[in-house]
Amino acid sequence: MTAVGAGGDARPPAAASCDGCTLCCVVFRIEALAKPPYHPCRHIAGSGCGVYDAPARPAVCAGFVCRYIQGHRDGTADRDGLPHPKDAGAYVFRHPDRAVTVMCVDPRRPHAWRTTGLVRFLEAALTGGTALVVHDRGYAFTISDPLHLAHVVADDYVRVAGEMGIPPNEPGFEGLA
Ligand code: SF4
Ligand code: SF4
Repeated sequence: MTAVGAGGDARPPAAASCDGCTLCCVVFRIEALAKPPYHPCRHIAGSGCGVYDAPARPAVCAGFVCRYIQGHRDGTADRDGLPHPKDAGAYVFRHPDRAVTVMCVDPRRPHAWRTTGLVRFLEAALTGGTALVVHDRGYAFTISDPLHLAHVVADDYVRVAGEMGIPPNEPGFEGLA
């Protein structure tokens, strides 16, 4: 995002900008807007949120920023080495109610994150005892240790699940709407 953003801050310092990313406004289910997951929000305008300062923007949107943006606010982004979601093809955040890290993968380029600094960030979280929940192309699954993560990085687990006949958790997912 620039002046207005998707899930991010309206006027962030440059380093913390959503920079035109609207991934969380596409992947998330937004019940207040009857928006299903993997469908772009109808309020996306240009490279950000068209109702950023308006009542139409749900509280759940105003309360969310991904870990990349939060890391810049906290001054931990350099330490964590998190890539921007536009570069990683995925965003992560700490679940507000559960001790888990959540990763949402961009279905348009689901393999990009595997070769970025996001892998080291996830390894560190798992080593520290925080489980990881992954949402990827309609599937949702839990990774509980670094060895499991290494397997997931090495193979396309969504393809494998499909070949095994395991249905996606979001049965309507047939690519990005
Ligand atoms: S995923 Fe992060 S960078 Fe992308 S729009 Fe959402 S808050 Fe901004
Ligand atoms: S209302 Fe705005 S912030 Fe919320 S999902 Fe839609 S575009 Fe994103």
